[in-house]
Amino acid sequence: DAAVYRAKHAGRGRVEIFDDGLRAHIDERRDVEVALRRGLAADEVHVLYQPVVDVAGGALVGFEALARWERPGVGLLAPEAFVPVAEQSDLICELDRWVLASAVGQLARWRAEHDLAGAGGPTVSVNVSARFLAEPRVTDTVLACLVEAGLPASCLVLEIAERAVVEAPVLLSHLASLRGLGVSVALDDFGTGTTSIGALRHLPVDTLKVDGRFLSTDPADQRLVALMVATAHASGLTVVAEGVEQAAVLDRLAADSCDAAQGFHVSLPLTVAQASDLLRAEVSGAPVG
Ligand code: C2E
Ligand code: MG
Ligand code: MG
Ligand code: MG
Repeated sequence: DAAVYRAKHAGRGRVEIFDDGLRAHIDERRDVEVALRRGLAADEVHVLYQPVVDVAGGALVGFEALARWERPGVGLLAPEAFVPVAEQSDLICELDRWVLASAVGQLARWRAEHDLAGAGGPTVSVNVSARFLAEPRVTDTVLACLVEAGLPASCLVLEIAERAVVEAPVLLSHLASLRGLGVSVALDDFGTGTTSIGALRHLPVDTLKVDGRFLSTDPADQRLVALMVATAHASGLTVVAEGVEQAAVLDRLAADSCDAAQGFHVSLPLTVAQASDLLRAEVSGAPVG
């Protein structure tokens, strides 16, 4: 995209190599970038919190923070509509930092409001892009967020896509130093990348998140999930299944000893107010869902 963009602006004579569709696509990307940069400052971005539960007992173990953008004149946008654009520039670092600070601050407030300050309380998982993780000062940035909020590092999970890690070995040392702070690392969308079974044991990660595409009732998928759970456990990692949409899938995960699960069958992503209600119910002993 950068090369295309430069060519377009290199001179009038070169614009003709683009058809109208491509030009419209590029213009739209620039629009999104400019509007999102403004929107971050104008509080148009907010975070939803999807519960993650213990498969065996059903208890809440944490929330995954998921960005949403209420774009004026357009409506509510899911990350697919703006994260890929943001990833083309340093804008993704601003977005990831914003979501991180927001989620870490929110969990700290929940812990205070609901008396969750003991060890083993719910965690918050934040998705980060490779570009953010590659920043030389990323460990300082994360530490500053935790200190500012007063949240123990053990309450934070950083999620990075399996594909991103494999493509950029430099990220591994940053992940290692983040884990040194006490932050956990989850390999997101596991099963969609190319990590070898042998490499898993040596990666600086704590958790595998099995991609939702494998969480079906298809017996072939179910055998793969059982294998991924066993492989993770053999490598000393915990496993979260994501995109669980059916009771039968959750039952199967229990039989396969999967540690935790999230998905529409467990709960949709929640607003802050809905997640607060859930925490209140959880503290008084009611199960999630
Ligand atoms: P992800 O980290 O794999 O997050 C899970 C996605 O699956 C979320 O989509 C969630 O709403 C959706 N989901 C949850 N349960 C189910 C289910 O049962 N069925 C199905 N079909 N989908 C389910 P969402 O919120 O649209 O996020 C999409 C992706 O955007 C995320 O995938 C993550 O990679 C990225 N993302 C979200 N927030 C951020 C952010 O703050 N920074 C960065 N860099 N990426 C983000
Ligand atoms: Mg994720
Ligand atoms: Mg995922
Ligand atoms: Mg996904």
